[in-house]
Amino acid sequence: MGIKKKSKYQIELMKQAGNVVALVHQAMKESIKEGVTTKELDTIANKIIKANRCDPTFLGYNGFPASICVSVNEQVVHGIPSDDVIIKNGDIVSVDVGATYRGFVGDSAWTYPCGEISDECKMLLKATEDALFQGLSRATAGAGLEDVAGAIEDVARWNNLGIVRQYGGHGVGKDMHEEPFIYNYRTNSKIILEAGMTLAIEPMLNLGCDDVVQLDDNWTVITKDKRPSAHFEHSVLITDGEVEILTKLL
Ligand code: MG
Ligand code: MG
Repeated sequence: MGIKKKSKYQIELMKQAGNVVALVHQAMKESIKEGVTTKELDTIANKIIKANRCDPTFLGYNGFPASICVSVNEQVVHGIPSDDVIIKNGDIVSVDVGATYRGFVGDSAWTYPCGEISDECKMLLKATEDALFQGLSRATAGAGLEDVAGAIEDVARWNNLGIVRQYGGHGVGKDMHEEPFIYNYRTNSKIILEAGMTLAIEPMLNLGCDDVVQLDDNWTVITKDKRPSAHFEHSVLITDGEVEILTKLL
């Protein structure tokens, strides 16, 4: 057990998976428009993943019924794509994508605006993306996981945003969820990062309170106060220098 470090070969497989995840995100960015259903987004994602010799990691994971999670507005994570959810102008749409290539996983989420969104949603998206990259800027061999979490927490606090407590980042590789669990706030973690670790860093920040609840579908997580939430995630490789993003186009 413990945190698994990856070989060069395993990292190459993760880059291939990450490339396909990035291809899906490129398509999502182009496809999220007024009138599209979240089920249509899922179909597009599934086709791209399979056309690139990957498996959709989420499909069947603990029984999840789709290839991507699509979480709109107050939905935080784990939204189930549906014919009944039609995207409209002003929505913010979080898409979480996982692809598995020859047994290795890439996992990345992004929140997209549809049309013109409110100023406070613009701030939420910018701050959550900033939180991801501030966290990543601290993710180097020898640093503490606490440094990463603290950098994310600081951006949330400066912007007066809620921080989701029950969900967070994780090790990623042969399994989508490996050790360690990565909180998006300080917890006095003593874990030190080492070159060769692969992690998914994923702040989830809310315009309102920290608290979230799960809906009766046993998947969809929404904010308790029903205010909007954003989610930005990359799978990365820890090195002796700057972090290397794995979920990007090759
Ligand atoms: Mg994810
Ligand atoms: Mg993840």
